[in-house]
Amino acid sequence: MSEDIKCKHCGGDVTIDVQKGIYTCNYCGSSSPLPVEELQQIELERNIKQEHIQNIKQKRLNKVQIICIVAIFSIIAIALIFTKLIIPGYKYNKATHLMKDQQYMQAQEIFQRL
Ligand SMILES: [Zn+2]
Repeated sequence: MSEDIKCKHCGGDVTIDVQKGIYTCNYCGSSSPLPVEELQQIELERNIKQEHIQNIKQKRLNKVQIICIVAIFSIIAIALIFTKLIIPGYKYNKATHLMKDQQYMQAQEIFQRL
């Protein structure tokens, strides 16, 4: 672990530079190359972190997709309900039937008058 590394010269806390592969003492300023195991450990930790971040991102994406699908279905459902309320098919049919009946009655009246 990076916390376990101490300065070889004074035993002080160090700052690790992964890019350069060295650690520098915060007190005496001396630099030493990082041990290979330490670099591997850091690399491993970084990979685990990245995997974790990717998992979180994927989960977030899945959530967004689910929300989008639910929203689309809700809009479709609401649209269907509204169209049925605004233009109810049965009422329309009733109206045409009534109109036909009226026309029929009028026609009958005309026939009776003849
Ligand atoms: Zn030191």
